[in-house]
Amino acid sequence: MAQPSLQPEILSRLREVLEPRHIVTDADELAPRLIDWRRKYTGAAQALVKPGTTAEVAAVVRACADTGTPIVPQGGHTGLVGGSTPDLDGRAVILSSERLTRIRDVDPLNNTMTVEAGCILQTLQAAAARHDRLFPLSLAAEGTCRIGGNLATNAGGLNVLRYGNARDQVLGLEVVLPDGRVWDGLRTLRKDNTGYDLKQLFVGSEGTLGIITAATLKLQPQPLETATAVCAVRDLDAALALLGRCQQATAQSLTSFELIPRLGIQLSLQHVAGSVDPLDRAYDWYVLVEAKGGHGDGGLKAALESALMQAYEDGLVLDAAPAESAGQAQAFWHLREAVVEAQRHEGGSIKHDIAVPVSSVPAFLAEATARVHELVPGVRPVPFGHLGDGNLHFNLTQPKGADTQAFLARWDEVNAAVHDIVASYRGSISAEHGIGQMKVAENARFKPPIELELMRTLKRSLDPQNIMNPGKVIDVG
Ligand SMILES: Cc1cc2nc3c(=O)[nH]c(=O)nc-3n(C[C@H](O)[C@H](O)[C@H](O)COP(=O)(O)OP(=O)(O)OC[C@H]3O[C@@H](n4cnc5c(N)ncnc54)[C@H](O)[C@@H]3O)c2cc1C
Repeated sequence: MAQPSLQPEILSRLREVLEPRHIVTDADELAPRLIDWRRKYTGAAQALVKPGTTAEVAAVVRACADTGTPIVPQGGHTGLVGGSTPDLDGRAVILSSERLTRIRDVDPLNNTMTVEAGCILQTLQAAAARHDRLFPLSLAAEGTCRIGGNLATNAGGLNVLRYGNARDQVLGLEVVLPDGRVWDGLRTLRKDNTGYDLKQLFVGSEGTLGIITAATLKLQPQPLETATAVCAVRDLDAALALLGRCQQATAQSLTSFELIPRLGIQLSLQHVAGSVDPLDRAYDWYVLVEAKGGHGDGGLKAALESALMQAYEDGLVLDAAPAESAGQAQAFWHLREAVVEAQRHEGGSIKHDIAVPVSSVPAFLAEATARVHELVPGVRPVPFGHLGDGNLHFNLTQPKGADTQAFLARWDEVNAAVHDIVASYRGSISAEHGIGQMKVAENARFKPPIELELMRTLKRSLDPQNIMNPGKVIDVG
């Protein structure tokens, strides 16, 4: 796609701040930054800039503020709602965090590390491990996504049950505000009741209120044991009963409780190399259970296995395979992660990232499944994900042999029908992926007007020119 030429004023301002090699205007180099991970949104931009320090970020933002140039912050660009993709008007500057990669400090005694926004999540997990600590945020995109993006989206992932979302991992932030001022809120305190908790305003704001340049993150003790198992459950009610039992048996050490339907496993076996059927025969529903903690004496594994055995005797669990090695645990996770890729081989998928109260999951799934079958006969639901958090990816694979484009053209209609059911359970239409550009209108349909007004008030007071990631999260009118 042809790029609009850079407007002279902003170009000269950017050149005062950054070396030319950190200002990208070449169309081929820009192209992958203009399309989102799911290839659902394409945009245009004047340039991609790569500041390497907080001072450079601040100078870029000041230049943009002075010239009224929209800024789209970009981390690993793995977001699933089009948040890091500019709109089509072509005036935006994409601000990448990829050069902000310093780990400024690790303090094992305080259980904190202070890191720059462009650090890759996996790098931070490894840095914590080198100090015999755990940084528990974990998601399938962890080799690519960056901590600034994780915080800006309040990412969830695989360990929320025990450790919480990205929001729960943060003690302090450094943020460049939309006028270019720097807020140094890099506190390292567990207790600080000195007014509004401003850092939490920026967590989950998806780049619409400022640019996160650094964060102080909480670290956890490195668990001494990990116990993993895959179980077939009688039904979803049984899965929930099992969740409670596993939590109790492992003394709250349960980190993951992931739902996988048979169709997810079947498609993974068919399409994704390395997938192995975990049990001897097929069942309708599976859960991947993982606990981390214990004393390193095998006690955690024994406790989990004994809970599974009791659940088997009580008819909740139909079969179970505890992982006998780290390799086997990895194979179970591979199967869980393979579900998304497997669906791709079957044509189009209409996706949802919903949450309902954990106790409402069985009723929600029954109702939503019946509704989508009514709307699209032959559709193949593959609801999977974080059952322990009530967060499911209610993904719908197209009917066999259907026209993919015609099926995907019904995305909004199907989303609306499913979201209406979610709302009837007082659930969320975006449990962990955020709003981005994908769900702005849909969010406005469900948020109480007073909440929308408060959000607009905050946005207008921090960013009166509406230059920070405009068009994302909330329509300011
Ligand atoms: C295979 C796969 C699996 C995934 N699994 C999960 C999962 O389990 N749980 C989950 O929550 N998400 C998941 N995601 C979604 C995605 O990885 C997360 O949203 C992640 O947190 C985004 O990080 P990023 O660095 O890629 O951000 P980007 O995609 O670059 O940006 C995301 C948003 O944050 C803003 N932003 C980025 N950096 C900054 C910054 N420094 N300051 C201010 N705003 C900024 C952007 O403008 C955009 O609005 C998955 C994605 C993929 C592709």
